[in-house]
Amino acid sequence: MNNDGNIVFEPDESLVMRSERVGSSKGLHILKNTLVLTTKNLYFVECGILGTTKEVHRYPLSTLVVNNGVPQAFYRRSIQNLNILDIYFTTGQESFVFQWKQKVKKWVESINELVASGILSDTAESIPTVYRFCSRCEASVKGHIGESVKCEYCGAYVSIE
Ligand SMILES: [Zn+2]
Repeated sequence: MNNDGNIVFEPDESLVMRSERVGSSKGLHILKNTLVLTTKNLYFVECGILGTTKEVHRYPLSTLVVNNGVPQAFYRRSIQNLNILDIYFTTGQESFVFQWKQKVKKWVESINELVASGILSDTAESIPTVYRFCSRCEASVKGHIGESVKCEYCGAYVSIE
């Protein structure tokens, strides 16, 4: 299989998994979008109201952040009770919304297996730096997801989420 709808795969690119009815910040309310994982890229196929493809967003897996062999792709349940798949790329964080928790777990598993298989030779090594505001003085604080960083201005500790 060398293509998936509107996606034209590279010659040495093959399908790993796909899920329909996926939301994201780019199409949160329209659960008609498709998420596709290949051996080279992650694609978010955004659909319009009539089901026609609006845009294909491509995230090269060479920009996937891998920390000590662990790809930074996680399940999260949002405060609105949505099942979220968070994936960190060197270009930033992407969040995808699924109907079922099990689906997200399957995606996390597949991404982990893909990294463990060694197919992705050149994934990013470090966690991207993100910027947040200090909760006490509102100064800009930079750090990595999961860290607790001391604000340079007021000395308060800010947990980077
Ligand atoms: Zn501060």
